[in-house]
Amino acid sequence: MVHGVVGKTTLLRPRIVLQRPRQQHWVGDGFRVSTVFSPHIIDAQLLSPFVLLDHARPRHFEPATQPRGVGEHPHRGFETVTFAYQGEVEHRDSHGGGGTVSAGDVQWMTAASGVVHEEFQSRAFTKTGGIFEMVQLWVNLPAKDKMGSPAYQRLPAESFPSFELGDATARLVAGELHGKRGPAVTHSPMTVFDIEFAKVGEVSFQLAEQTTTLLLMLRGNATVQGAQSIGIGELVVFDRASSGAVTLSADADTQVLVLNGQPLEEPVVAHGPFVMNTKEEIVQAIHDFQAGKMGRLAPKESKESKESKESKESKESNEGKEAPWES
Ligand code: MN
Repeated sequence: MVHGVVGKTTLLRPRIVLQRPRQQHWVGDGFRVSTVFSPHIIDAQLLSPFVLLDHARPRHFEPATQPRGVGEHPHRGFETVTFAYQGEVEHRDSHGGGGTVSAGDVQWMTAASGVVHEEFQSRAFTKTGGIFEMVQLWVNLPAKDKMGSPAYQRLPAESFPSFELGDATARLVAGELHGKRGPAVTHSPMTVFDIEFAKVGEVSFQLAEQTTTLLLMLRGNATVQGAQSIGIGELVVFDRASSGAVTLSADADTQVLVLNGQPLEEPVVAHGPFVMNTKEEIVQAIHDFQAGKMGRLAPKESKESKESKESKESKESNEGKEAPWES
């Protein structure tokens, strides 16, 4: 009874609905993504503390002999948060972080003062092929933490509190919701969760006032606030100046990702794989990366695999120029 709910409840007001992005691009040769938001698409202040979101919708990959992905590249000033929904990613970074992100897992990497890392489809996934579906979110760091130490949080599927939320099931990654707490350690207050509807149903939830609230449709179809219909890859940005609940009325087999956070209220200067507060800090980041101050990855075990990686990297540099996580 969505109309009943809408009639009685104060609702958060959608400010912008970003339609399903038409453009998709390759990041390396493993990630076919659409950039749902970035500072180049929408005013970064409206989204703070969230900076960028790349959505790799479900896509089938044939079995292969060489893992597909993106080779060594740097980041500074923010966190990359990778949600694996289907398929598997292997990660390695210059700060010693690394591991496999399997379906249902989340990897929360704090680049802070700088890391160099690589992201590939896992060897197991490469061998079998299959459906690959992922989200990579960039979370900004407060200015005081941008030059802090890098960190790596491996958040396995079983670490997330999972509970009934209306007619759906919520999985809490970060922050607090309905008395539960997500496992991710964050540098500013935020609540990150996804909601899955196995059957047709409704959900209503309320988040802290005057915070950023974004809702991304991962799968299925839903009506937001009793009025706005959204489909796969679409994003609702709610108006911070309004207050009230978010209500969703969804079809069976629908999944949405909810990002909520306190805005940092600091300048955002984003350039390639760096997100800082000033242009000077971006120039410094480029210099520091080139001088090797963000570290290097240990060479791969065999000469043969290293050579194939290098040829892949030179291929990557010729394509996907717009991919923001490449240098
Ligand atoms: Mn990266």
